[in-house]
Amino acid sequence: MQATADQFTVRQHNSALIVRALRQHQTLSRAELAAETGLNRSTVSSIVNDLIQQHMMEETTYQSDRIGRPGLLLTLNPSYGCTIGIEVNVDYLAATLLDFTYRVIWQARTPLTPGLSPADVIMNGIAFTQEAIQEAQYRRIPPLGIGVVLPALIDTHRGAVTLGPNLGWQNISVLKYWQAQFDLPILVENDANAAAVAEHYLGNARNVENFVLITGGVGIGGGIMVDGKLMRGQNGYAAEVGHMVVDPEGQQCGCGSQGCLETVIGNTIIVEETRQLLRTNKQPSRFTAESIDTLNFDDIVQAGLDNDPVCRLQLQKIAYHLGLVVSQLGSLFNPEMIIIGGYSHCLLKFLIPEIKIVAQKHSMQTNSPPLNIQPSHFGVNSSVIGAAALVYDHLSQPVFSNHIN
Ligand SMILES: [Zn+2]
Repeated sequence: MQATADQFTVRQHNSALIVRALRQHQTLSRAELAAETGLNRSTVSSIVNDLIQQHMMEETTYQSDRIGRPGLLLTLNPSYGCTIGIEVNVDYLAATLLDFTYRVIWQARTPLTPGLSPADVIMNGIAFTQEAIQEAQYRRIPPLGIGVVLPALIDTHRGAVTLGPNLGWQNISVLKYWQAQFDLPILVENDANAAAVAEHYLGNARNVENFVLITGGVGIGGGIMVDGKLMRGQNGYAAEVGHMVVDPEGQQCGCGSQGCLETVIGNTIIVEETRQLLRTNKQPSRFTAESIDTLNFDDIVQAGLDNDPVCRLQLQKIAYHLGLVVSQLGSLFNPEMIIIGGYSHCLLKFLIPEIKIVAQKHSMQTNSPPLNIQPSHFGVNSSVIGAAALVYDHLSQPVFSNHIN
């Protein structure tokens, strides 16, 4: 019996390898699949036949493959199923549907009223998940699972928020609430880890096995990929870049420490500080006393990019601190790439060159090329797309394999 169970697990594992290779390359011949996965031809053929019968995979046009042999190319059936990504953040909810080929087929975002209790936020998140399921049903693509991501320390085994300083959450079993509503496999993950997965599977870090992602916002998150796997650390709290102390005498942080990076350049702090600076500003400015009171982060970005002197300096301050942290992460991890995300594309366009200058100045002057610093491919949508992408990994684990077979 044991041997049969093991054989079943090996076959599931090999099926997952084949599906993943096809997600990465879109179309491959059987010979290419064997080369890509390291499996032998007969194993590939047998699994492919099964997957075709299950409508998970299709044969496409007859043509020569890249190895030069004529044959039918294989591709995944995009409508076989989709996964749902849900991002619960401080001031918004986001949702996405990712089809079986990793294509984003639907996205939505809605603001959250400030000051809602965790229970109310969860209720809104569940309603948003229901909306995503309806969208999948409308497209006649069965939902296969749900990934929920939050800007918090997450116990992934329990699916619980251990501590979410910016959410104001502590010890909340997110998984239980979703499980009570949906009969689908569900996972809970940190938002920045999910963003790193999105970049690795679908974005700017495809084929990059060692990289660090920093994601800015109200909080500053991080995800570290080592040899193609998320580095989680002892308790799953690795890569909390936002809680690196940059000003030991600085402001109290929600995490219990003092002077963390996010108390210096987190969006909320930048907004508060910019309002104060503008109130005492003697230079000409587009802002009236009334508009200063209602100023938000996007207004500061826009004004900074339009050369408003106060706002421009604030954007440079963000870049300066990110540059210092990037140089330290470069020394610690010697990554192939560092990705900056979480910000809008237009802000990233401004930040990246500035970060490069600071990071270069404060990096070890070796003969190796400078750090490869790239903007996130998905900008503010990385985390929610990563949430949905992670579900496919979750599904390929043997315990859930009945959901895709
Ligand atoms: Zn902190």
